[in-house]
Amino acid sequence: MSGLIVLAERCTACGSCLGVCPFGALSLEGDTIVVGEQCNLCGACVDACPSEALRVERPEAEAEPDQATYRGVWVWVEQFQGRACTISWEMMGQGRRLANELGVALTACVLGHDVGHIAREAIAYGADRVFLVDDPTLAVYRTDPYAAVLVHLVREYRPEIFLLGASARGRDLAGAVATDLHTGLTADCTGLDIDPETRLLRQTRPAFGGNIMATIICPKHRPQMATVRHRVFEVPPADESRSGQIVRVPAILPEERIACRVADFVLESGQVNLADARIIVTGGRGVGGPEGFDPIRELAEVLGGAVGASRAAVDAGWIPYAHQVGQTGRTVKPDLYIACGVSGAIQHLAGMQTSKVIVAINKDPEAPIFNVATYGIVGDLFQIVPALTAEFRRRLGR
Ligand SMILES: Cc1cc2nc3c(=O)[nH]c(=O)nc-3n(C[C@H](O)[C@H](O)[C@H](O)COP(=O)(O)OP(=O)(O)OC[C@H]3O[C@@H](n4cnc5c(N)ncnc54)[C@H](O)[C@@H]3O)c2cc1C
Repeated sequence: MSGLIVLAERCTACGSCLGVCPFGALSLEGDTIVVGEQCNLCGACVDACPSEALRVERPEAEAEPDQATYRGVWVWVEQFQGRACTISWEMMGQGRRLANELGVALTACVLGHDVGHIAREAIAYGADRVFLVDDPTLAVYRTDPYAAVLVHLVREYRPEIFLLGASARGRDLAGAVATDLHTGLTADCTGLDIDPETRLLRQTRPAFGGNIMATIICPKHRPQMATVRHRVFEVPPADESRSGQIVRVPAILPEERIACRVADFVLESGQVNLADARIIVTGGRGVGGPEGFDPIRELAEVLGGAVGASRAAVDAGWIPYAHQVGQTGRTVKPDLYIACGVSGAIQHLAGMQTSKVIVAINKDPEAPIFNVATYGIVGDLFQIVPALTAEFRRRLGR
């Protein structure tokens, strides 16, 4: 039997377990604890029970029998319109580090059309071998043909670790590939390490609304798959003198077997690219309304930067989601991050606290954002931001 087991003979119906369940899965009916469908066996109630009346029993997953035959670290190199995405080079830096620790080779998977130059770049960024799948069916990202190629390659060549960037395409592809391979996937990692004793990949990511950092392992299935958020890791220096092997592989699905057709690809004008911005000026709930973003935009424009937002401002409908920074928005790492009217909630900090220089403008001197700020300005953003804009405009001659 598996599930949350309530040992009736021990349970005193004290109710200690009810409030600690993060999913509201427990209720008390008479003097009986009832376990609802929302229970995901997290075990929070087990720790809270003073009578040791709760026990979690999990079904044993069958382990992959040939684990030892899986070797090597792989990275999917994402590209868009023939240009590699920087997140892939960040992955390559991590892949190289992990491969070195394990004493194995690093392989890059480059899929697309007319993307041979990216295979050569992948070698410069650390790959020992590149699987190059160059085919018109792969020109634009679609789940089916991309997943089919990667699943085929994994089954054939058996990597022990497979990393993808946690971009929109990477998240989609990783889920599809892991499902087909019946293996585990840790999404949105912020840290990757090798356990020296077991050689297992330790995958760290925020959990429970960012309040704890969970380290997850995948001991029974292969490959160990993880997606990693943009800008968590540095892009390693490219070394053009490196050499590696490029293996050309045919696509798996012919066009007639691909369900999705792409009629056209339109890039929205004015699209924000927070991930690559060197300067970001962010507005929070403190801007007070959609028009409160006007001074934020002006400062960003004078500095040649992008406009960010807290989730509170996005949820209020003052600015589109594409601007959101934080755990459920973009992870950014600019040279300069100016937070205006942002309190500094942990979920916001999760997306920006590794910025090189952080300037916080807030009228509350106790705001937590000041704990991570390089420079703090206590005051009204509607006085300070226009004053900064005017001064930068004067000094920069813009
Ligand atoms: C699962 C989960 C995921 C989340 N993901 C994200 C995320 O990705 N990104 C994110 O940002 N949040 C996220 N949140 C929400 C987060 O917890 C906070 O609610 C949010 O960040 C608060 O936004 P804020 O700082 O703009 O607003 P508030 O916390 O309300 O802070 C507003 C600040 O503005 C200051 N202020 C007001 N007026 C002025 C003025 N005139 N001049 C100067 N300062 C002023 C105030 O002193 C205050 O500090 C998430 C929450 C959960 C539970």
